Amino acid sequence: MEEILARKVGRLAPSPTGALHLGNVRTFMVAWLSARSCGGKVILRMEDLDHPKDKPGAARMAKEDLEWLGFDWDDEYVQSQRKNIYREALDELVRKGLAYPCVCSRRDVASAQSAPHAGEQLFYPGTCRGRFSSWKEASDFLAPAGRVPCWRFRADPGTKVSFTDAFAGAQEMDVGAVLGDFPLARDEGGAGYTLAAVTDDLLMGVTEVVRGDDLLPATPAQLLVARALLPWARTRNPGAGVPSYFHVPLVTGPDGMRLAKRHGDTRVASFREAGWHPEEIIGFLAASCGWCASGERASLRKLIPAFCPEKIPHASFVVRNVV
Ligand code: GLU
Repeated sequence: MEEILARKVGRLAPSPTGALHLGNVRTFMVAWLSARSCGGKVILRMEDLDHPKDKPGAARMAKEDLEWLGFDWDDEYVQSQRKNIYREALDELVRKGLAYPCVCSRRDVASAQSAPHAGEQLFYPGTCRGRFSSWKEASDFLAPAGRVPCWRFRADPGTKVSFTDAFAGAQEMDVGAVLGDFPLARDEGGAGYTLAAVTDDLLMGVTEVVRGDDLLPATPAQLLVARALLPWARTRNPGAGVPSYFHVPLVTGPDGMRLAKRHGDTRVASFREAGWHPEEIIGFLAASCGWCASGERASLRKLIPAFCPEKIPHASFVVRNVV
């Protein structure tokens, strides 16, 4: 009964690697409305562990853009201030025999830091599994090359993960066959995206993850980590549970690719400078979800009664340079 009545907790999780654009805003709009339309809570979490891709000032600008557009949130966190917590989560996985040090390629190690947007995940066959008895041994091995090992999650062959995405439907992946032992942390304690996001979702009591569907293929690995960490997370937050997932179709350029600089300027800041009203932007994006007429202005608050996830088209939303 308690679980049924539990309050929904959603989150907005920008990476300050660049300016907020229409694609980010459309997904955040769905996440915010999904929580607020049932009286739920919203968390703002700055995912700033992706050095050197993070840009100075981008976190502050993202917050300003979100506030200008009418977003609000109840709690705010910055991942770079939570490294000790991720270290504890990693220790728990090591203790369970689910994480091990790896001395393989630099590229793999670097890839641990970023959210693996579609097509960016690499397969790793487990070369270093069982090879080193400790982090120190692995790090001594690499010291002459001036490199440090990374940590990987042990995904045994046949590790199948199934879940039902609230928008995309039934999903299944044999993580051991598709990803192999995926990376968790870049160096001894530097959590990567998967470890940090999963740990945070559990400890922050997030009940629903709403994000772009290019992260759908990253979800099975996250579920494995979440399930492994859940008992530990519950010792810190008794209300912790594995969240549900809702992957929203992406906003793309006319070439069908995820919105990027080459598609022209769709940054929120540019709309603001060009004199757009925030309700024109929200209205434009809400119309693409079927919640208001095209050309209509809308505020996030006014959209709460119109919020209807079933109306969001399953095709991606194609945007041309509109500024
Ligand atoms: N910070 C990630 C990104 O902007 C999103 C991660 C997530 O929602 O899980 O790509």
